[in-house]
Parts: sequence; C-alpha cells; structure tokens
Amino acid sequence: MPSEIIKEILKDIPEGKISEAVFEGANIVLYTKDKKFLLENDGLIKSIVNKIKKRIELRPDPELCIDEEEAEKKIRELIPEEAGIDKVFFDPQRSVVIIEAEKPGMAIGKQGENLHKLKKETFWVPNVQRTPLIRSPIIDNIRTFLYQNSDYRRKFLHKTGQRIYNGWLRQKKHEWIRVSYLGGGRQVGRSCLLLQTPESRVLLDCGIDVSSTDEAYPFLEAPELDINELDAIIVSHAHVDHSGLVPYLFKYGYRGPVYCTPPTRDIMSLLQLDIVKIQHSEGKEPLYGVEEVKEMVKHTIPLNYEEVTDVTPDVRITMYNAGHTLGSAMVHIHIGNGLHNMLYTGDIKFAKTRLLAPASTQFPRLETMLIESTYGGRDNITETVKTQDKVLQDIVETTIKRGGKVLMPTLGTGRGQEIIMLVEDLIRNGRIPEIPVYIDGMVWDITAIHTAYPEYMNNSVRQQIFHRDNNPFLNKNIKQVGSAKERKQIIEEGGPCILLATSGMLVGGPSVEYLKALGEDKRHSIVFSCYQGEGTLGRRIQRGDKEIVFRNGQKDEVLNLKMEVHKIEISGHADRRELMNFMQRLSPRPKRILVNHGESNRCLDLASSYHKQFRVETEAPRNLEVVRIR
Ligand SMILES: [Zn+2]
Repeated sequence: MPSEIIKEILKDIPEGKISEAVFEGANIVLYTKDKKFLLENDGLIKSIVNKIKKRIELRPDPELCIDEEEAEKKIRELIPEEAGIDKVFFDPQRSVVIIEAEKPGMAIGKQGENLHKLKKETFWVPNVQRTPLIRSPIIDNIRTFLYQNSDYRRKFLHKTGQRIYNGWLRQKKHEWIRVSYLGGGRQVGRSCLLLQTPESRVLLDCGIDVSSTDEAYPFLEAPELDINELDAIIVSHAHVDHSGLVPYLFKYGYRGPVYCTPPTRDIMSLLQLDIVKIQHSEGKEPLYGVEEVKEMVKHTIPLNYEEVTDVTPDVRITMYNAGHTLGSAMVHIHIGNGLHNMLYTGDIKFAKTRLLAPASTQFPRLETMLIESTYGGRDNITETVKTQDKVLQDIVETTIKRGGKVLMPTLGTGRGQEIIMLVEDLIRNGRIPEIPVYIDGMVWDITAIHTAYPEYMNNSVRQQIFHRDNNPFLNKNIKQVGSAKERKQIIEEGGPCILLATSGMLVGGPSVEYLKALGEDKRHSIVFSCYQGEGTLGRRIQRGDKEIVFRNGQKDEVLNLKMEVHKIEISGHADRRELMNFMQRLSPRPKRILVNHGESNRCLDLASSYHKQFRVETEAPRNLEVVRIR
C-alpha cells in the first residue's frame, strides 16, 4: 500500500507520469518513463520539495536506460581524461551508475555539466565517488560488497523509509523523552546511550572499553533495551570505544539502520575486523566475526555533515563536524516536531588541528547538550600546536646528527595522521632534512582511507590538495613498510629516518619490533605522542624503566634501553580551556547539560564549572542511570 506521503506527492504530478515511487531511507525516489518529463520538470519537483520539506529525486525508469556497454563508452568519452576514471558500476534496478574517479570535481564538470550531459544521453543517473589516491583495500571491499548486495540494499532502504513515513507504531498518550546511560557514564570507554521517546528507540554509539577485561562492554542487559525493538543506531565516530560493539548487535538479530559519516563507516569496519583478527589470534571466544561486520556495512546509511535526515517518525538527526578524528560527528537530534532539540557531542576537539577544523558551534535550536569530558578537569590543559612543532624539530635534528633514527609509536587513527602532517610540514618547510618517513602497521591503512575523503579535512589541507596539487599524504618522503623483510632492511641498512608505527602504547605491532631492534643503541630516540595506559610497556618506559623483559618462546630476553625517551602532546580531545570556550561560543546556548565520557572527578568538575559560569542546569549521570529530558 502506498504511503500517505507518496499519495500527497503524486497529487501534484500530472497523472501517468510516475511509474514507481519508493523510499531510499528518508529519501523519496520517483521513476518516470517519460523522457520529456524527466529532463524538463525540475521546477515541479523543486516546488514539491519546498512544500513537503523532504528530499525527492526524479529518476528515469530502468526501461529508459541505454545498454550498459554503450553507456560506459559514452562515460569514458565524455569525461575528460584528467579526471582519472577508475571503475564504473551499474545498479540497473535504480538506474544509477557509479563512476569512480581520482578527481571527482573534474568528472562532474562546471556546475555539473558533464553529469547533465551524461544523463541526457544515456538516461543513467551518474553518481561520482572519489578513488583514494593511496590504494585502500577496505574501501575497495566495502564498495564492491555494497554493489554485490544492491538488491538487498534497495529493499532494506525502502523498508527503512516505510518505518519513517508510515505513521506511528506505538501508543502515544503523552510526550516524553529519556536517555539511559548504558556505558560511558563517568568513565572513558564503552560509550553507549539509549534514547527513548513514546515512538522511538535509538542507540547512540556502542563501544568497547579495551583497557578493561571485566567491564569492557556496555550494560546491554539493561531492562529498557530490547534489540528487537531498536529503530536505529547512530555512531558518532570510528574509535572502538564508540563503535566496537555494533557488529555484536547484528549477531543478536538487529537488522535496522546504522547512521554515520562515510569515513566513519570505512574506518570502523577496519577497526572491527582488527578486533576479530586479534581475538582469533589470541584463541579467545570471538565476540563477533567477519560476517557480522559485513552485515553492519550492509545496513549502514552514510550521512554527510549537515545532511538532515528523519530516522523515525519523531526523530530527525543531523551530523556536524566534531573536529576529533576523520569523519567524527556531533549528532543534533530534533525530537517530535519542535518538542525538543539535543546535541550529543561524541568526542570533540575545539581547536584547528593540522588535519581537521574545530567542532561546529552553530545550531538551529538547542535545549539539552550531552558533552564529553575526557580532559574536563580544571588542570587538564594540553600544549599548543606551536610548541609541539619546535619540540619535535629539535628531537629530530639532534637524533639525525648522531646518525640515529626516530621511532614514534602512534595510534592508528587520528593522531597518527596528525603526526604525518606535522612531520611532512617540517620537511616541506625545510625545518628538518629530507629524510624518509616510514609508516608501518594499521596507521598506513587508515592514512589510505584519509586520501578518499579530503572534504572532511580542514580548509588549509583542502587548499593544499585541490589548488596546489600538493597532497601531504603523497609527499615522496613518506613510504609504506609493507613486509617484515622491508622492516628488517630499514633497521639494518637504512640511515636516519622517522618511523611511525602502531601500536601507540607498545602493546604489540611493529612499534614493539622496532623498539627491540633499536632500543639498546643510544643514537636513536623514541617519541611518545599519545596517552600511555596503565600497565602498558609505553607507560613503564615513560616512567623510567630501563630494563625491559620480553618473552621469546620459552625464555626471557632482556633489553637494556639506551635510546633517548621523549614525549610530545598531541590530543584529539578538547582540553579544559577548549571545553569552556566551546560552551561560550555555542549558539544557541543549551539550558541543560549532561556530562559524560570522562573520569568521575573530571565529569563532576566540568559539570560544576559549567553550572557556575553559565548558570545552566548540569549533571554527570552514572552508568545505568536514566535521565528524563522532557
Ligand atoms: Zn574518540
């Protein structure tokens, strides 16, 4: 049975013009067999969009599309060679052709002229995607997988649309909103919140606390959470303390949508597959497998920043830049046609970093904010970008003079790329000599994903990439270490260089291999750039341990650490000053603030300071507490 909203739309269109009307999530797609109507009726569709305030797209009926082979020939003829066309995929049931190009702007042409021409000549709807400049197997796999499952996707997206538009399922007697803290209350790790209204059940993040063994997962057994009743999952960003447990929900039967930005989808899949791999290698009972990660990808609906989308009949969300890591989002949630507006910040950074722009502060409306507080305590002030520059420059210079190498253990996502940008900048501006920068481990795969999404980086990086054709990630000094053999070569033969390797806390991965090989030579330096967790090797070295024991098969080997130990502070989180400034700049200013994602005293400290300085109601809920928002 056609939905009310589709009947409403069809009322304004001349009889017989539309052959089919379907949903693609919250978008409405109309198909027509009438060529003239397709090409000349923009005005009518636009006026309907203005009237009903939903996204509507008019597409040619599949019957009109010309032969695929013929169409591909036309595409390659019409789009200039410099655009670097890679693969071309056809999705015949949707009349859509996906064109992968190295330079999408060039493929699209001025004001989309190439695409208009293509549509007119082939009756296929072209959709251009960026090919990552550094090959990314995960992006290749995700795109191919989605293409192979396009039939399932089409049905799933239509079903999602029916849930959004076909009216209320549940009883509505009163209006109320509440949020349950299933994880991340007064702690960092396992972030997970359940938002409930009379009609909707929406999960905000579902993470794993990797530093804990007995309290690693959120309270999914809380009575108010029923996986079968869940309408949507929203993931703020890819870090595993926010996304690591999402595939687990698919293992227990969830088949609804997962909303996040496109970079978040790609990076979180990579990190989840890594969790599967690690659990497998440790012989542990797996939390979930590759199948569940695929299932999640199949149900992910990617949203760009500031793209407004309904997710249920009474919840509408918009993602805003959070400045924390590539694709990280703050989620603005509009509930019940003007009833209430919330902002869930996820993790934020409120300063321009080398890679990203600071978190957004302008919202249409805002009454309640749920904010992180990793560095919310009054003494949590981190260093500025300028001082780190100088510190790293000095370390590199003195190490090179001694003929040594600089080892930088780094986190895979976010911080790793910030450091690549920092080192690249020092080289490009002649502040350190042109030495090789070797990238080893997962940090390389995630860097490759970055090259597919320059739109998600700050203005200066975009300028560099688009206008000066000077992509920092493609600097000729930056090289991937692809194998153990190459690693050995670099250690034994290579002269001075910078080595960026995961893991960041020296808990396995190539960074530990380099430490074993270089640690006893005092010409080399090690530079930590991220928080070192309690009990990690990184923390012990920072504390001054010089005798390090490694287990090698049956026997212990001792490393006498002689390399220089340094630290630079690069944080992806807003520090205390930034958190206060962020609130100062917020427009409009929320009336109520709930603080989460921080150690207990930091949450309480930030809540109390917001209350004193801004005269707003604040609290710092604990896990399993439920807060009534309205
Ligand atoms: Zn994070």
